[in-house]
Amino acid sequence: MTQTADTPIADLRSQLRGEVVDADAPGYDESRRVWNGAIDRRPLVVARCLDEADVQAAVRFAVEHGLEIAVRGGAHSMSGASVVDDGIVIDLAAMNQVTVDPATRRAVVAGGALLGDVDAATQAHGLAVPAGLVSHTGVAGLTLGGGMGWLTRLGGLTIDNLLSVRVVTADGQVRVASESESPDLFWAVRGGGGNFGVVTEFEFALHEVGPLIHYGLLFWSLDRGLEMLRHVRGVIDTLPDDVNVIVGAISAPPAPFVPEQHRLSPGYATIVVGTGTAESHADVCAALAGGVPPLFEFTTPMPYVELQKMLDDANGWGLHCYDKGCYVTELSDEVVDALTTHVPEKTSPMSIVLLYRLDGAFSRVAEDATAFGGGRSPRFGVFVIGVCPSPELLPAERAWVRATADALRPAAADDGIYVNSMTEFDAVSSVQAAYSPGKYARLVEIKTTYDPDNVFHRNANIVPALP
Ligand SMILES: Cc1cc2nc3c(=O)[nH]c(=O)nc-3n(C[C@H](O)[C@H](O)[C@H](O)COP(=O)(O)OP(=O)(O)OC[C@H]3O[C@@H](n4cnc5c(N)ncnc54)[C@H](O)[C@@H]3O)c2cc1C
Repeated sequence: MTQTADTPIADLRSQLRGEVVDADAPGYDESRRVWNGAIDRRPLVVARCLDEADVQAAVRFAVEHGLEIAVRGGAHSMSGASVVDDGIVIDLAAMNQVTVDPATRRAVVAGGALLGDVDAATQAHGLAVPAGLVSHTGVAGLTLGGGMGWLTRLGGLTIDNLLSVRVVTADGQVRVASESESPDLFWAVRGGGGNFGVVTEFEFALHEVGPLIHYGLLFWSLDRGLEMLRHVRGVIDTLPDDVNVIVGAISAPPAPFVPEQHRLSPGYATIVVGTGTAESHADVCAALAGGVPPLFEFTTPMPYVELQKMLDDANGWGLHCYDKGCYVTELSDEVVDALTTHVPEKTSPMSIVLLYRLDGAFSRVAEDATAFGGGRSPRFGVFVIGVCPSPELLPAERAWVRATADALRPAAADDGIYVNSMTEFDAVSSVQAAYSPGKYARLVEIKTTYDPDNVFHRNANIVPALP
């Protein structure tokens, strides 16, 4: 796609209710900033849309002037897909309204909302959408890739709770997609990322959750990793439906509940979240601690909205990051060996490995019901994330992420990759490898129908078929 330097931005300003920010406008630097501090790009213009008509006008303008489009929801994509050099950023941040109908247990969420916006509105009624762990993540990018977090075992992926979307496609038209209307498009947006257009509205089914949940953190030192991982896998295999466990190689938080001498020490943890009774949560914590005694443990009831914000500060804007992911079907000896060999070699204390448990409601959804990149058999979603505070430290963390991901590869499931865990696409973790051959072929077909010229390509790109 060609880019033009003399684009009539004044035209665009006259068509939008929202602000149009170019390099000469105050606030330009703020408007091009994304979550990953390693990304620094200079768009020609940022269209801060206020409503669906603004989005339509921005898409039409971009296509007419041959401008490359980046669509921005919460700006958390590791690769910086939501900002583009010399092109147009279609920014939905101001479109963050959430409306909840407690009677039908449904929420309508505008395309630029953050997870925290949804949690605040839904928890007012004791309801929730299963989503991610950090409240400043965007609903749009997270949902379009799949969406996994504390409620995945209880309610499935975020896409498993999606009822309909409104999408502005490459021709500037608004399309509604659901099981009964444009079902092909509805299938594709549930896992196929931002390939099919700009989603201006999501409608979700809600689950009863909270307002209080049960939280537990159990932490082991680095040298107990092998024994601890071998023990916890047995407990995780038999979890009740109302408890979820994320296993992590993390540093102990500098929190008051952590004994002072252990704060910021590297090690392994299980984070245990119960949405049912205190007893079932306590039983799981006791079983996890029962094999290899943790260095410390902490359990408490807490509001669900607080749980959702607990990791916000540790994952603040401006950190320099690089991520790679895979699925493993079990914490086999091979996986445990790969982790315990590589985790001690990270140089930044902020770098982490997280293993999200995916079973229960996640596995009750048919493999081909959505375009999700990955199978539905019980498994762990593994994220290896290099995180550091400054650019000069990133090359070492990137090398560590790659080495750890390479070591896990022989044990990885070969039925897909979670597109939201990919920072870049290479020969091994290509977009094609993210989907089963059948899903990929169907995605190409639907992409060719709705976006034949590949207008929306700053994503895990599905390339349309040639005419
Ligand atoms: C701190 C942090 C925590 C995370 N935690 C989790 C987690 O717990 N669970 C999980 O599943 N994932 C998690 N992720 C990964 C996250 O799902 C992806 O980074 C996701 O892409 C973020 O969405 P966004 O809207 O914030 O990002 P953006 O960068 O704005 O967008 C991401 C992609 O979606 C496209 N897009 C954005 N908005 C729209 C829209 N309205 N219509 C069409 N396309 C759009 C963009 O063009 C881009 O390709 C986390 C990421 C970070 C950085």
